[in-house]
Amino acid sequence: MPVTRARLLVMNAALGPLDYRVPEGMAVEHGSVVVAPLGPRQVTGIVWEEERLPSDRVPDEKLRPLLGMLDVPPIRAELRRLIEWTADYYVAPMAAVARMVIASGGALRGPATMTEYRLTGGAPERMTAQRQRAIEALEGEQATIRELSGIAGVSEGVLRGLVNHGVLEPVEVDVDRPYPRASADHHLPDLSAEQREVAGRLVEAVEARAFAPILIDGVTGSGKTETYFEAIGAAIAEGRQVLVMLPEIALTEAFLGRFEERFGALPVVWHSSLKSTERRRAWRAIASGEAQVVVGARSALFLPYANLGLIVVDEAHEISFKQDDGVRYNARDVAVMRARFEGIPVVLASATPALESLHMADTGIYEKLVLPSRFGGAQLPDIKLVDLTEEKPGSGAWIAPPLRAALIDRLEKGEQSLLFLNRRGYAPLTLCRHCGFRFQCPNCSAWLVEHRLSRRLACHHCGHETAPPGKCPECGEPDCLVACGPGVERIADEVAEMLPEARVAVVTSDTLNSPEKAAEFVAMAEAKAIDVIVGTQLVTKGFHFPELTLVGVIDADLGLEGGDLRAAERTYQQVAQVAGRAGRGAKPGEVLIQTRHPEAPVIAALEAGDRDAFYEAETDARRYAGAPPFGRWAAIIVSSEDEREAREAAQRLGSTRPHLDDVQVLGPAPAPMALLRGRYRFRLLLNAKRSAELQQVIRVWLSGVEHPPGVRIGVDIDPYSFV
Ligand SMILES: [Zn+2]
Ligand SMILES: [Zn+2]
Repeated sequence: MPVTRARLLVMNAALGPLDYRVPEGMAVEHGSVVVAPLGPRQVTGIVWEEERLPSDRVPDEKLRPLLGMLDVPPIRAELRRLIEWTADYYVAPMAAVARMVIASGGALRGPATMTEYRLTGGAPERMTAQRQRAIEALEGEQATIRELSGIAGVSEGVLRGLVNHGVLEPVEVDVDRPYPRASADHHLPDLSAEQREVAGRLVEAVEARAFAPILIDGVTGSGKTETYFEAIGAAIAEGRQVLVMLPEIALTEAFLGRFEERFGALPVVWHSSLKSTERRRAWRAIASGEAQVVVGARSALFLPYANLGLIVVDEAHEISFKQDDGVRYNARDVAVMRARFEGIPVVLASATPALESLHMADTGIYEKLVLPSRFGGAQLPDIKLVDLTEEKPGSGAWIAPPLRAALIDRLEKGEQSLLFLNRRGYAPLTLCRHCGFRFQCPNCSAWLVEHRLSRRLACHHCGHETAPPGKCPECGEPDCLVACGPGVERIADEVAEMLPEARVAVVTSDTLNSPEKAAEFVAMAEAKAIDVIVGTQLVTKGFHFPELTLVGVIDADLGLEGGDLRAAERTYQQVAQVAGRAGRGAKPGEVLIQTRHPEAPVIAALEAGDRDAFYEAETDARRYAGAPPFGRWAAIIVSSEDEREAREAAQRLGSTRPHLDDVQVLGPAPAPMALLRGRYRFRLLLNAKRSAELQQVIRVWLSGVEHPPGVRIGVDIDPYSFV
């Protein structure tokens, strides 16, 4: 039956649902993406089921007609349900979630072409040096004028001249030209018996076409990727789409290489730094079903797949799957919900699964598949503690004698070492030796971190930067600034001083900030052009260097400081992951962990290689604290550019707190990051029993309090960071 009225979810969080008349001849259905008039302006909206989007009913005669329907497939019911669920669970506006679905404005404009240029083989009437150079450089190239200008190293004007002379000719290209096809059996792998068993079960799950949450719990180096590649192959063979989510874009490059080798073509990549033409091409291919496999960051989760058959979340324990602004969702958890709505399997792969995921497996909600040994007979590394209270590094140094000796030994043998410290830059704090002045961010409650390689002091929260001054800004004393504590750059300096002949590479999000740089680093490490890698959490996963036999953890206690509820788990995961980089080839690996607290349960469990003991202790601690998975947390952040306004709003909210048996409200108190990006922040924490209707409690509570327009209220359900 044709729809004659349409209720729209409009792409503007400030507006509620709006009703329109469907003009005759417009074949609108639920999920259609349409354009509607709004006063003198236009809005984009998705046609929704009226009963699921309650609003006051406007009489037919008062409705304005829709302006048009966009040339994209309707948003499917499964995805509409996911939008509703996500908005409801994370207490976020539905429009904000829907905007992550309609993630490319360009894609909505329908098919498009662009003009590229190529050489005709002709010569200009008048040859110049520039023209000559361009003609030589552009042999075999076809691209836009701007891109050709980059390739040839001449101005766009020179190239336009060549177009006028008939030397370059225009070619109309479909912006959304098809992607190369992946083939399920391009290069079949040689799997171990254990891998074959896991792969077999995954393939079965894909073919069953039913919801199945599966946890692959496999030690580092056990070949998890190869096993889920078989499931991807099965989905490709059945003509269904696959989404693979990776925690870091820097990891994509290595993944792409392995993927291409196995399937004969690259997958479609989705992340926030795609160019707008690449974005629209990917979005339209995903929506039409043409994109076979999509590899992306968490934002790829909400795209409108036409025919999804499998979701894989790799390194599923990673905290970067949690988004901390806008809609504060956890992509790992939403991936499971999406699989449920789609009726498909979802695979969470990790060597150090989150406690919540293990708990789901233990209670039978997730199926657990185990890969207990390393592929090709490689052994798990030998782990030793270095007690920093006994083995002291020299003054101004952070590498203790045992680690130093091990580094020298590896260098002599021509093997590689990796030093791990989860701190970017040179030093986390700079102060004046004369007056004690500390460099602080003007917009945040945070110290400025010195980056010596790029000669700046930077805030890691808001991006504020300043050049390091020659004298103290407070007392004016010259040459009195001292760096306090180490960052990776400082450790690299220490290594360079200790081993002047060693080739040292610093690997952080500052140095590996593009897929090209990541590929360059991998190539150098594989070619043994690097002796010592000094890196942050970026090096803890994904990389596979057979000649790397020593891992040194500079400060295992770092993660344990601070009040984060998952601190112990995160420390365990990071150190276990980085330890997993050692000895992945034929040579055995050694791991040295520097600590001042060898007796701490997490450190002792790492030394003993006793994962079960760690998880048991952590489970008890969480149960006692009413923390996930046994209880639930939520944070409400009240912020304003005006400190008094923020405080008063937080107090107002606090004074109307609900009094319930199963929800406890703590605060308000200044947030640990009391100032962030120029906004003053106060925090209320909620700790709830699992039985509580936590989201409903929060919605009712917040809706009863009014605030001035400068106040923002942010809700974080299942928060990861308590700052
Ligand atoms: Zn000073
Ligand atoms: Zn800042």
